[in-house]
Amino acid sequence: MQKLEHWVKADVSNYPDARNRPDQQGTSRLSPHLHLGELSPRQIYWALKKWGQDQPQESCRVYLNEIGWREFAHQILTHFPQTDLEPLDARFAHFEWQERPEWLKAWQKGQTGYPIVDAGMRELWALGWMHNRVRMIVASFLTKDLMLPWQEGAKWFWDTLVDADLAANSLNWQWTAGCGADAAPYFRIFNPISQGEKFDPGGEYVRKWVPEIAALPDKWLNKPWEAPPLVLLEAGVRLGDNYPFPMIEHKQAREGALAAFARIKSSGSKTTLP
Ligand SMILES: Cc1cc2nc3c(=O)[nH]c(=O)nc-3n(C[C@H](O)[C@H](O)[C@H](O)COP(=O)(O)OP(=O)(O)OC[C@H]3O[C@@H](n4cnc5c(N)ncnc54)[C@H](O)[C@@H]3O)c2cc1C
Repeated sequence: MQKLEHWVKADVSNYPDARNRPDQQGTSRLSPHLHLGELSPRQIYWALKKWGQDQPQESCRVYLNEIGWREFAHQILTHFPQTDLEPLDARFAHFEWQERPEWLKAWQKGQTGYPIVDAGMRELWALGWMHNRVRMIVASFLTKDLMLPWQEGAKWFWDTLVDADLAANSLNWQWTAGCGADAAPYFRIFNPISQGEKFDPGGEYVRKWVPEIAALPDKWLNKPWEAPPLVLLEAGVRLGDNYPFPMIEHKQAREGALAAFARIKSSGSKTTLP
């Protein structure tokens, strides 16, 4: 309750601007407390009414909107209880997911060669928590670049998150994979390079979690494989030795994923499992 009070009185005002920045403490971090029932969404609503009066109303609205996503996730799981394992859009039961255990392991361990993905996966392992923006990036990377099943990602999150919540986890993984209730359009494939550059512009987040490349200049931080050899040498980065080469080429992977998703989308209209 103290954390909630402090959040509403001191920090919620910055939420619309700061919520997408993993290099800042821009979100409430109340998810474990909500999941474990230490706080209820109603308490959050009334806290915003009571302590949020002097705060920008738009900030309170944007924050409450996220609580709405949580409620939506619970409603979906209640009405479609199989969606922790099965796609809500039944066409995806036949999607050509790959089976590559060594790829899954590299993703889990934060050894993909894409710094923002690796930073997120290492933050998850160290803290049991990951910033929402980065959750979306790593989930897109798993399901679209690597075309590994979203259920594998959801399982790993389930084992490692302190806020692991069956409803929120399933809904968000299905959303990212494109098979959920309010799915991201299948052509929305996060670019792990530009996402890192946009949402961690000073590289603070990547440098914290991927220290082996911390000495690289900002320009190369999210794409070390493009850095000139001298820059790599000066930064002490030995690709393939102390930091991996990218495990897949994003542009090429994107084309493959787009083609596979287009095939699924043209295989009939969206059907929801009974
Ligand atoms: C692939 C993936 C898996 C996720 N798995 C979980 C999970 O297991 N448990 C979980 O609580 N959240 C999950 N989320 C949603 C979101 O990332 C976390 O709720 C958020 O990062 C928690 O940090 P916070 O409390 O600082 O969030 P804030 O931004 O402060 O949001 C406030 C609260 O709103 C709710 N909320 C925010 N975003 C979402 C969302 N997209 N869906 C549902 N509820 C939301 C949470 O209860 C959160 O505590 C997942 C997101 C993705 C992309």
